[in-house]
Amino acid sequence: MIVASPSSLYSDLDVRVELDAPLAAQTWFGIGGRADILIHPQSVQALETLTRRCRRDGIPLRVLGSGANLLVDDDGVDGVVLKLDAPVFQAVEFNASGRIERMRAFGGASMEKLVLECSRRGIRGLEQMAGIPASVGGAVRMNAGGKFGAIGDVVDAVAVVAVDGELSVLTRDSLHFAYRETSIPKGSIVWASFRVESDDPIACRARVLEIFAYKKSTQPMSAASAGCMFRNPVMPNGTMESAGRLIDRAGMKGARVGGAFVSDAHGNFLAVDRGARTDDLRALIEKVQAAVSVNSGVELATEVVFWRRGDAV
Ligand SMILES: Cc1cc2nc3c(=O)[nH]c(=O)nc-3n(C[C@H](O)[C@H](O)[C@H](O)COP(=O)(O)OP(=O)(O)OC[C@H]3O[C@@H](n4cnc5c(N)ncnc54)[C@H](O)[C@@H]3O)c2cc1C
Repeated sequence: MIVASPSSLYSDLDVRVELDAPLAAQTWFGIGGRADILIHPQSVQALETLTRRCRRDGIPLRVLGSGANLLVDDDGVDGVVLKLDAPVFQAVEFNASGRIERMRAFGGASMEKLVLECSRRGIRGLEQMAGIPASVGGAVRMNAGGKFGAIGDVVDAVAVVAVDGELSVLTRDSLHFAYRETSIPKGSIVWASFRVESDDPIACRARVLEIFAYKKSTQPMSAASAGCMFRNPVMPNGTMESAGRLIDRAGMKGARVGGAFVSDAHGNFLAVDRGARTDDLRALIEKVQAAVSVNSGVELATEVVFWRRGDAV
């Protein structure tokens, strides 16, 4: 279903607009419905004005990164979905502000390409992101990372267009990063700058390959998934437990609902076959949560972001 297009929102702005736009191909799951309006702002100013107008008119606004941590409802999403893929949002500046130890990347830049380019140039700091599919904005928003560290470890500053349309720059001392979350206000992450160091390109490349090889050997990277479905829970004794281990112990590896299944290789990877429905995956998530709750008394919370009509702010 498509709502009436509020073209007054964007007709005078430097944006590219798609109405009733399919989102499935924009996510790693490859499933889910359509966005009523998908807008690609071509400038920071257009992004600010559009955001301000959405706020003024009460139109829901969501930001799509590379879709690697996103599950879109079968019925799609209302309001405006933003995609920061214009050239201005994919820019990367090495030696930002003339300093070798500063790098700035815009929100729509590819994290995979950035990691490779850093190792090619002999820049150390982002190796922990090897093998994590993301846009820079999505990685910072999720504080993506793992065993080798998270992106928040090296973020120096972040520019965000908040939901009121105001652009502000937040420096490290005012930012808080925790396990898969940050204190960055809701809105669009326009750019992030990073503290990096010069190193031998061969050593950088070796480290990236080592981390990538580890990920590849422990995770089903090519499955249609969003990586880990559930957050690792904190146990009563204060330690963090592996959600994958709990799912394995609950006998859920290989469990299936319709076209959605729990990976045999990694219990926390829930994946889908081509043609699966988001409803299949939702039902599987509930089945896994119920089994783990019965088996170990732990209530698993999802790490993956869900988009459905009526849920945006
Ligand atoms: C095979 C595979 C392996 C993975 N392994 C890991 C891993 O090891 N560690 C890990 O942490 N994650 C992992 N993930 C999950 C995913 O890579 C991360 O969560 C990543 O940060 C998602 O970035 P994205 O650009 O795809 O964001 P999306 O999935 O597009 O969006 C995720 C959230 O970020 C928000 N967002 C996106 N862009 C912006 C922006 N510019 N400004 C503000 N908000 C924004 C969205 O609104 C949404 O709330 C994996 C996923 C896959 C498919």
